Amino acid sequence: MIDLRSDTVTRPSPGMLKAMSDAEVGDDVWGDDPTVAKLQAATAERAGKEAGLFFPSGTQSNLAALMAHCERGDEYLVGQLAHTYRHEGGGAAVLGSIQPQPIENAPDGTLPLEKIAAAIKPLDAHFARTRLLALENTLHGMVLPAGYVAAATQLARSKGLATHLDGARAFNAAVASGVSLQQICAPFDSVSICFSKGLGAPVGSVLVGGKELLARAHRWRKVLGGGMRQSGVLAAACLYALHHNVERLAADHANAAALARGLRQIGEIKVTGQATNMVFLQLPQEHCAPLELHLKQHGILIQGVYGARLVTHLDVAEADVGSVVKAAKSYFAGI
Ligand SMILES: *Cc1c(COP(=O)(O)O)cnc(C)c1O
Repeated sequence: MIDLRSDTVTRPSPGMLKAMSDAEVGDDVWGDDPTVAKLQAATAERAGKEAGLFFPSGTQSNLAALMAHCERGDEYLVGQLAHTYRHEGGGAAVLGSIQPQPIENAPDGTLPLEKIAAAIKPLDAHFARTRLLALENTLHGMVLPAGYVAAATQLARSKGLATHLDGARAFNAAVASGVSLQQICAPFDSVSICFSKGLGAPVGSVLVGGKELLARAHRWRKVLGGGMRQSGVLAAACLYALHHNVERLAADHANAAALARGLRQIGEIKVTGQATNMVFLQLPQEHCAPLELHLKQHGILIQGVYGARLVTHLDVAEADVGSVVKAAKSYFAGI
């Protein structure tokens, strides 16, 4: 199957599985797992931060970070489209007693500076205390412009706010812009990085930031049920990904661009966006389900064709792009 539903669908490669089975492990709740320690240190170094903390998911990593930055009754500024706001079950509010203050994203994914400034509340008993600005990079595949990130985080700092980046795909942003992960992470106090997306590990995220902040996040990780025991088995997959699967993200980006070019040849399909490893489509409602079925019969999986998102990853080969375009053309030739 060519599975374009998400970059989370990758299977661990034989090399990754070998690294997992060879991993040296210990009880990480006691801080005894050398492979987890190695992953945390290696990720922190790549990101240019003091420390790293391994989590089972990006959702938990983001939540622990929000809870480490904010206390009960505080608020964080976040995009309407942000994963932490829309796709994480409202965890900040539910489990952190943190009020989200959503801000409408501009079409390029940024939060306009004047909207950020206007959303910051004065210190007054009427208001939640505005404590944190959270951005996401990439957002819907789009890389936030470096100049924008510098200005937004500078504005936040000037108002006494901390800054967090949901960098689930921060490596995609770095590779696409030809800069280091450190440059992507530098403007932020904390960054959550996923290994289970384009990097191809089965599980795992690492939160990076300063030692004090991460000590608070460590406590919240335990409270949230994220204290794991011999998790070096999982960390080994992430270390393998860090060493083998970062630079190759460029191939995913090239495949997504080629896919967009191919699909643009089909009159009924409107390619509404393409950035890094994602392609967004629109097509007439009546073709959605039949096209999805037609593609499935050709061994291609996509989800939600109306406003669909197709995602490339390390289990999608360059030749697969041609197969997808061909299968889509054959559907429209037959109607
Ligand atoms: C996937 C993702 C996360 C975390 O997701 P998990 O499935 O919990 O690992 C966070 N933010 C963004 C932008 C994501 O795409």
